[in-house]
Amino acid sequence: MKALVKRHPSRGIWMEEVPMPVIGPNEVLIKVEKTAICGTDLHIYNWDSWSQRTIRPGLVIGHEFVGRVAEIGPGVVGYAIGDRVSAEGHVVCGHCRNCRAGRQHLCPNTTGIGVNRDGAFAEYVAVPASNLWPIPDQIPSELAAFFDPYGNAAHCALEFDLVGEDVLITGAGPIGIIAAGIAKHVGARNVVVTDINDYRLKLAADMGATRVVNVANQSLTEVVKDLHIDGFDVGLEMSGNPRAFNDMLSTMYHGGKIALLGILPSGAGIDWDKVIFKGLTLQGIYGRKMYETWYKMTQMVLTGFPLQKALTHQIQIDDFQRGFDLMDAGACGKVVCSW
Ligand code: NAD
Ligand code: ZN
Repeated sequence: MKALVKRHPSRGIWMEEVPMPVIGPNEVLIKVEKTAICGTDLHIYNWDSWSQRTIRPGLVIGHEFVGRVAEIGPGVVGYAIGDRVSAEGHVVCGHCRNCRAGRQHLCPNTTGIGVNRDGAFAEYVAVPASNLWPIPDQIPSELAAFFDPYGNAAHCALEFDLVGEDVLITGAGPIGIIAAGIAKHVGARNVVVTDINDYRLKLAADMGATRVVNVANQSLTEVVKDLHIDGFDVGLEMSGNPRAFNDMLSTMYHGGKIALLGILPSGAGIDWDKVIFKGLTLQGIYGRKMYETWYKMTQMVLTGFPLQKALTHQIQIDDFQRGFDLMDAGACGKVVCSW
């Protein structure tokens, strides 16, 4: 079968002919229909220091996908050939304390599809049946293809009560854009989004942000004054940029709550005085809740959440280089590829 493989320990990704995955007990083989390119795939493409530490060359990458059940392994119940599914990209151990308590998103033994095991940028992918998420007929495949990052946005945005609150989102990447939409959808008052990329800020505004701020040429503190608020009640950090995080700490209201999704560089300096003297709550966010986040995402789309506004490009997989170039340039929301 055809697959995008991280063959060489250098920048790039290569389309190759590879053997079909073999499924074991409790696994399902999926015929992939559509995939989406994640920031993580771009890290692997660029072969940054994280990828060099994490990825073994020869790996089929990719974890954002939708497809149809093609083969069912021994022990699997509840699925039939042809069912349309997406899947949770984190494979958990199932036997640690957190897994057994129903907190699988906190499993310390998590491995990643397309990171630690062969992924979905391929004609077929093998996944544990317990990771599958059935997609209702009303949801088009090009949206189901990126439920994984939609789930990051949803897990983060739904961590704290947003009803009537003033919300700051730093970073208008695909996840920040979707989070802006969710914040508005669930009833936040002001939804302010920052970035340094005007194209992406426009997407955030289209999705539901009530105010967008290019911090390269506008001060967030001035925007807070202009809005006649004392500061933000809830912050969603979705840039991974230390300056953005410090902007957030400076503009939070006392007692505010911050959900941290963006991956800050190690050793990033933060102003602890702001955290302590304002009595802020900081909550790290990883992945998605299994499977409560998936449930909420599905229901939000079925009740009118405009997820399609985050989808800016649909391409054929043979055109994958263009997809990675768009991601690298930040000239896109979600990029979905047809297989
Ligand atoms: P992305 O890189 O596409 O978006 C980040 C955005 O931040 C970019 O648009 C960039 O222009 C913007 N930015 C840069 N400097 C800024 C500043 N000073 N102020 C405001 N914005 C600034 O990333 P994404 O795919 O949307 O993901 C968002 C973040 O979440 C990334 O850091 C990613 O690594 C991380 N992530 C975490 C998890 C998790 O489970 N914790 C999962 C997926 C992604
Ligand atoms: Zn576990």
